[in-house]
Amino acid sequence: MKKISQFLIVVAASLFWNVCYAQAKQLHAVASFSILADIVEQVGGDHVVVTSLVGRNEDTHVFEPRPQAAATLGKADIVIVNGLGFEGWMEKLIQASATKAEVVAASNGIESRKLDEGGQQIPDPHAWQNPANGLIYARNVADGLCNVDPEDCAVFRSNVEVYGAKIQTLDDSLHQRFAQIPEARRLVITTHDAFAYFGSAYGIRFLAAEGMSTDSEPSAADLAKLVRQVKQSGTSALFLENMSDQRLIDQIALETGVKPGGMLFADALSQPAEGGGTYLEMVKHNAELLIAAMAGS
Ligand SMILES: [Zn+2]
Repeated sequence: MKKISQFLIVVAASLFWNVCYAQAKQLHAVASFSILADIVEQVGGDHVVVTSLVGRNEDTHVFEPRPQAAATLGKADIVIVNGLGFEGWMEKLIQASATKAEVVAASNGIESRKLDEGGQQIPDPHAWQNPANGLIYARNVADGLCNVDPEDCAVFRSNVEVYGAKIQTLDDSLHQRFAQIPEARRLVITTHDAFAYFGSAYGIRFLAAEGMSTDSEPSAADLAKLVRQVKQSGTSALFLENMSDQRLIDQIALETGVKPGGMLFADALSQPAEGGGTYLEMVKHNAELLIAAMAGS
């Protein structure tokens, strides 16, 4: 009898421990950059701890991983990247880390736009700038989390439903608001070419002073051409991005007399207090600035 009760105590204790463990179970997810990290947090909820390799207001195009990034990847259960050639440094880093984690490309299934870089057609990686694509990212993230943690899959699916509805509501309202602005006014100058997906979603033309990547400086001829375009188009929307060099926009502003309209969040979230703390806040912030500048004069 004593033996049986001892056995029962052991069984009860191990059950209790299992329940506690199950409740406390959290996946370690590593996202390549801050926008993706937020999407993973929204979908993963309490079941996921997310680390972003590239931080807020930092530039993924020119990121140079420190040795500790390999250690972070080594501990990951799942690694989520944008894909479309955005993280040129990632393959080496994954090899260096010897991680066994599943690697998920959030842009999977999105038909990429093409960019001309030095006469070569390459995929435009900035797909998240169209909220409709943001929804695809969230679903791909949920699929990835479900593969790694099938027990919590129902939670991930339910989180995606809720989050997706918020993305859809924002997208619908932006379609309506941009449609009210005359087409000729929907022209914007930015410092790098990150907004083609946003532009095609809402019928806005974006001209960029840099190429796709922030590591290329525009030539004097490119800049002169852009200054001519700004003057001819009569645009009032001239924007800096949060990972870019202020001097470029200042120079265009000086030569064209167009006042800069503020800072758009392109490839990184801002700090929470700066208005682009999450993916949805970032899209809203950008849209409000753009609408104000286009409607302004
Ligand atoms: Zn970019």
